[in-house]
Amino acid sequence: MTPFLSVRDLSVRFATEDGTVQAVDGLSFGLERGRTLGIVGESGSGKSVTSLAVLGLHDPRRTTIRGEILLDGQELTGAPEPVLEKLRGDTMAMVFQDSLTALSPYYTVGRQIAEPFRKHTGASRRDARLRAIEMLEKVGIPNAALRVDDYPHQFSGGMRQRAMIAMALVCDPELLIADEPTTALDVTVQAQILDLLKDLQQQTGSAIVLITHDLGVVANTVDELLVMYAGRAVEYGTVREVLREPRHPYTWGLLGSMPRLGSDVEEPLSPIPGTPPSLLAPPPGCPFHPRCAFTAEVGGERCATERPELPDGRGGACHLSAERKRSIFTGQIKPRLG
Ligand code: SF4
Repeated sequence: MTPFLSVRDLSVRFATEDGTVQAVDGLSFGLERGRTLGIVGESGSGKSVTSLAVLGLHDPRRTTIRGEILLDGQELTGAPEPVLEKLRGDTMAMVFQDSLTALSPYYTVGRQIAEPFRKHTGASRRDARLRAIEMLEKVGIPNAALRVDDYPHQFSGGMRQRAMIAMALVCDPELLIADEPTTALDVTVQAQILDLLKDLQQQTGSAIVLITHDLGVVANTVDELLVMYAGRAVEYGTVREVLREPRHPYTWGLLGSMPRLGSDVEEPLSPIPGTPPSLLAPPPGCPFHPRCAFTAEVGGERCATERPELPDGRGGACHLSAERKRSIFTGQIKPRLG
């Protein structure tokens, strides 16, 4: 059976003055209603490009999208803009990272929540305002009936993020894409926003894609986890599987570069050496090979010449054998992670 959101062999390319950027290459994943998929990776790994492709928000004049994006069986790749525009808001919505940029400073928060509701449902101004107040209450804004007339600058960062979630959910979308929704917030507010998303999901049964560069954010929030590097999926599994026994050296690196609760503050983190490759000329073979400490384990030039595929279901796109990965992880990586 096809999942509610099904992405198959997605490729996204941008034409730039310097050449063609292969931002996403051969990406596949599925997501059911009521589940949350985390997509994790460094900047430029293709996470946000993927979400914009699902929402149909790329500029078609400079973007080439290939592959299949099915939402409840409906093909979104190449769908006409009016169809996508109707789906955005009715069926799918997005929460952006930067609420100051995403919310207009010229309109009240209430109006910005009420307008998409009016547009998509044909509700009267009065009913749309009542709906905006209801949504602000739902996302935990105190005195919602008064705050509905505030402008964004009168809200704190956490409240603006809640208002953006209210705006995204006002038409009860079945798919919500949250792109780094907590990055600009302090840790306490971060946890509140993630709890809020989970609560709202339990009420509505929506599917959520949570995009983040921070593995700490996904641990208690997502069901499945997709790790992306240089535009490709390098690891997939349930969040428990991936965090307990990661099967890709890049995931080991991401985990090793996170601070641990209870660790000595003097203890240095282990950042991944090097930088992500330019997507104007991605490296051949495994895209991680210029930064990987385990290429000698595979032997010869295989990592630099042969692209490892991500197996269907649980797995990592790496030439190391399953046994070798397990022994490296338990012997070398786990002691470092603690
Ligand atoms: Fe490292 Fe080779 Fe595995 Fe890529 S395929 S992650 S370079 S060991």
